[in-house]
Amino acid sequence: MTGKKKQKAESAASSAGESSFTKRSIVILGSTGSIGRSTLEVLDEHPGRFEVVALAAYSDVNRIIEQAAKVHPKYIYMGDPVAAEFLQGEPIGRECEILTGKESIAALAALPEVEMVVNALVGAAGLMASLAAVENGKYLALANKESLVVGGSLFEDIAQRTGAKILPIDSEHSAIWQCLSAGRDSEVRRLILTASGGPFRQLDKSEFKNVTREAALNHPTWKMGPKVTIDSATLMNKGLELIEAVWLFSIPPEMVSIVVHPQSIVHSMVEYIDSSVVAQMSAPDMKLPITYALFWPERLPSEFGRLDFSELGELTFAKPDIEKFPAINLAYNAAVMGGTAPAALNAANEVAVDAFLLGRIGFTQITDIIEKTLMNHQVVDKPSLLDIMEADSRSRELAETFVN
Ligand code: MG
Repeated sequence: MTGKKKQKAESAASSAGESSFTKRSIVILGSTGSIGRSTLEVLDEHPGRFEVVALAAYSDVNRIIEQAAKVHPKYIYMGDPVAAEFLQGEPIGRECEILTGKESIAALAALPEVEMVVNALVGAAGLMASLAAVENGKYLALANKESLVVGGSLFEDIAQRTGAKILPIDSEHSAIWQCLSAGRDSEVRRLILTASGGPFRQLDKSEFKNVTREAALNHPTWKMGPKVTIDSATLMNKGLELIEAVWLFSIPPEMVSIVVHPQSIVHSMVEYIDSSVVAQMSAPDMKLPITYALFWPERLPSEFGRLDFSELGELTFAKPDIEKFPAINLAYNAAVMGGTAPAALNAANEVAVDAFLLGRIGFTQITDIIEKTLMNHQVVDKPSLLDIMEADSRSRELAETFVN
């Protein structure tokens, strides 16, 4: 075998080695939420392929006891110290180490025996865990889009240094990731993110001020947690996903388009320079992108999201109404402003969504508050983690004053 051929064979052998694993050890952050529960359902379908080292949740003690009885983790983290104390006194407290306190969650993501971290935490709180996972060279299966929105610039260098890989669980980004294997990066013309349009796609703008919490929480195609469901109703979810795509695929914001596709069958697309468009499709079921990330780089036989084209009916595509949904432009502007601007946008959005869920503000005020916060934000370019954390807390305070 010539030197060159040998090298080729070796690299083929090593990539073959990479393409299968017997057992993967994982940590599931946000295990009692919608994505966490779906992740555990996927694991259940593939017994023996994963060892769950830790589960982390905020306060749902009943559900975490149920989950732990099934997967026997070494550690359980509860964000709420009262919940952690409760678990200590339960039988589960003798079987697992119960942790609480913000530092513990990053420590779980950094555990040496862990190969993969599933981050399904809600909001900017997920950033430290994502950074810890990447810093320690893990596979980061990422559902917490806020990590990249807030701290995207921090990840690139670290991942290169440590060999960590970010594997998106967000259905749109999983779709783009899959579509990108059809060509070279230099051949990409643009990424096309699809948006369901949320529950108010057809509602007249004059009715927006009367939108109730219940109506906003009723998403037509996807079943998700309350934060992302409200984000979907304002279309801020798509705005955040645009910023997420910029960091995940190292692409400028002007190369990302958004198209409304109410059936949620095409999960996103990639247009190449020859005008070919490659799309990824399935029935809307988060267990498909979760399975793809968990087993990457393998594709496993699985039925989640399987399509019956004869039953599908029509698929439609339309331009988003940016008058009705100012969130898309706000996010685009924050992406172009760069630096700490996306962190400010995200912080204001978290405060405003919370305030809306608590009945403190109306639906249209969510984007008003984000716009005002962004306008008052002093952008720090090439921010450090400290700059980002400061931008986050200052923007929260500012948004809170607008809520009041
Ligand atoms: Mg999504």
